[in-house]
Amino acid sequence: MSGPGTLLAQREFHPFEAGGETFVYLVPSAGVFRLDDVSRNVLEALDPGPAAEEDLVASLGGRFGPDRVRRSLRELREVRAVGLASAPPDEAPRVLPQAGFPLTTMVLNVTNKCNLACTYCYEYGEDKIVDTECSPAPNYMSEETARQSVDFMFEQSGPLPVAHLTFFGGETLLNFRVLKKTLAYARRKGEEAGKHVECSLTTNATLLREEVIDWLVENQVGVTVSIDGPKETQDKFRVFKNGMGSYEHVLPRIKMLLERHRSRPVGARVTLTRHTLDATRIFRHLRDELGFWEVGFAPVTTANGRDYAIQDDGFERMLAQFEELADDFLHCAVEGRHHGFSNVKDTLEEIHKGVSKAFPCGAGLGLMGVATDGEVALCHRFAGSGDHGIGSVHEGLDRKRQFEFLERHHVANKTDCNQCWARPLCAGGCYHEAHVRYGDTGRANLHYCDWIRSWTDTCLKVYGEISVRNPSYLQRFD
Ligand code: SF4
Ligand code: SF4
Repeated sequence: MSGPGTLLAQREFHPFEAGGETFVYLVPSAGVFRLDDVSRNVLEALDPGPAAEEDLVASLGGRFGPDRVRRSLRELREVRAVGLASAPPDEAPRVLPQAGFPLTTMVLNVTNKCNLACTYCYEYGEDKIVDTECSPAPNYMSEETARQSVDFMFEQSGPLPVAHLTFFGGETLLNFRVLKKTLAYARRKGEEAGKHVECSLTTNATLLREEVIDWLVENQVGVTVSIDGPKETQDKFRVFKNGMGSYEHVLPRIKMLLERHRSRPVGARVTLTRHTLDATRIFRHLRDELGFWEVGFAPVTTANGRDYAIQDDGFERMLAQFEELADDFLHCAVEGRHHGFSNVKDTLEEIHKGVSKAFPCGAGLGLMGVATDGEVALCHRFAGSGDHGIGSVHEGLDRKRQFEFLERHHVANKTDCNQCWARPLCAGGCYHEAHVRYGDTGRANLHYCDWIRSWTDTCLKVYGEISVRNPSYLQRFD
């Protein structure tokens, strides 16, 4: 007997077509499920609303056979694409482990000084949240604080076999002396503790020279260069303090780095603004003309109304460019070749691993930033802001503050996100961006939802098509 309590209904999913097949992206389990003919018809039969199992079998059994329809319903219920109409919605788990989270990545802001004056910079530009000029924190992290930061990293990384140490700035290489000593110390400590220390840094490339590159190569340091593309885009915002563009200065240095640094792939990170949205041209210049292994793009973080802020039509243009690059990526992946568009690669990896986020990123969880004075913050972008501190490397982590932050920022507290199918991958977006845009880290970044959903849909389609045409390519994300 079927009654209202046994009616079946669609659960939360996002359907998409790829490679001639139909898929559903299951929310919130974040699984991707390929539908066969029967399951597609079963889901379509539930489009108008809940129905009883026997009615579904009666309406579809003539075409597919009753047993096949029942089996399909069982499978759809197992993956939670279908469930009891009366069941409450699935929610992301809210329990936070009392023992805390092991730290996977620690970002040391080894200096808050920079030798460039990029107009849009979140650290020095109009939207800065850390007043580096008036702050009592030193401009350069001392050797002693850097060593204590490494000790803190080992303490907090718990049982993890690998600790990721990332150097950041300001311009990171302004404090090269401390970088060298700190990494040597971390590697020594790592050997004693039986942990491998992975190291990476971000630089604007202005200070790359032979001695620095030799050190990067010998120590297998992963390098990301902040660069905005060919001369016309780089020189628009990435300028020296006298206003002179930096392209001609960084070009020979980047060439030397790319020629010599073969022990780790070198990536480029591009900030896109309203005036520099030509992502395909930028990508081709950086990958094909200069030889970067990977190129990733991030829209500029800014308060609304700034001249360089990306407006609505800009998001559409950016999406069109990203889609073109994603299409190139797909062709390469189908042929088993590397492409280098890291935005799509990173999202594919998350889709493949079934990442379902309760928080948008690792900030304050497995990732923390350390300011030049040793204050520990949510991430590198908040390092030194005081308001977003969660302890210090000298006195340890303030667990209470960390937990309060995490409880307040859980995706379940973001009303709009709770209705959104893209939440397993977005979860409301960057806290720093929310702070700059709305003055509140806890707000969802609702100004870019359309863009996020369209981009996530594109990545799902790329994933689906690869899974049909060259599934072995996806094994690299296992
Ligand atoms: S910020 Fe927007 S796109 Fe992201 S999860 Fe929330 S509602 Fe969805
Ligand atoms: S808060 Fe924003 S900048 Fe910081 S780690 Fe998260 S996504 Fe990155």
